[in-house]
Amino acid sequence: MTPNLNMFSLEGKTALVTGANTGLGQGICVAYAKAGANVIGVARRSCEDTAAKIADIGGNFQEIIADLSDISVIPQIVSEAEKAFGRVDILVNNAGIIKRCDAADVSIEDWDSVININEKMVFFLSQAFAKGWLSDHKGGKIINIASMLSYQGGIRVPAYTASKSAIIGLTRELANEWSKHNINVNAIAPGYMETNNTENLRKDEQRSEEILGRIPAGRWGTPEDIAGAAIFLASEASSYVHGFTLAVDGGWLAR
Ligand code: NAP
Repeated sequence: MTPNLNMFSLEGKTALVTGANTGLGQGICVAYAKAGANVIGVARRSCEDTAAKIADIGGNFQEIIADLSDISVIPQIVSEAEKAFGRVDILVNNAGIIKRCDAADVSIEDWDSVININEKMVFFLSQAFAKGWLSDHKGGKIINIASMLSYQGGIRVPAYTASKSAIIGLTRELANEWSKHNINVNAIAPGYMETNNTENLRKDEQRSEEILGRIPAGRWGTPEDIAGAAIFLASEASSYVHGFTLAVDGGWLAR
């Protein structure tokens, strides 16, 4: 029997993706547009590149400019999103920053900036959309972007590791509260991907070689590598998947 692949379709759905102007966020936006969704990209600078890629495939895209370091922007994001396409069905908490520094030298400012975007915003933006879903009883999908440092300690990135470790716990906690309301909360843990986030790492020849040598797939990942997992977790196909973090890591965690 042919499987019903329509279960992966996002036709008629609206997805909001944070950090949509580049990297994994851009990859997820394009993947969702290809799967049929209207896409809203939130970023602190223009998403023209993402918009052009989606226009090329005949998709619908709207950007919202907002700095995600302060949760006071959330009401603006919710209202602009609803104005653009009506109900938001899928939220991808992708925006994130990393600051590399010896643990002994991390400043309070740097600690707060990482935690505010990578952790605090993820919770309160999820809460803002879930409140609407809990009251209209139509369900929703939340996909958080975790990391290998949700599982491992890393080095010279204490705030990042703390925030990404929190993402796995938060994903489970929210799933425990909201699963029965038809809200799926899951996460994707990317491995080492070629984006701005890893530019400095890739420039460091020794670290770059060490990392590559440990990836069973033998290559860094790309934003396109996230597409399948992101579509799966946003679609009907994952309706009984709750509180799980799916690694897309070229086998890194298997080592
Ligand atoms: P990236 O290319 O640096 O993209 C990060 C995105 O977040 C950009 O769109 C960035 O906007 C946005 N952002 C950062 N601070 C923001 C703020 N204050 N307000 C609004 N937007 C903000 O890195 P990426 O690799 O695609 O990262 C996406 C997610 O994947 C992050 O959560 C990251 O931690 C996670 N991740 C990445 C890897 C990897 O290997 N690349 C691995 C594991 C997890 P700007 O362009 O304006 O800075």
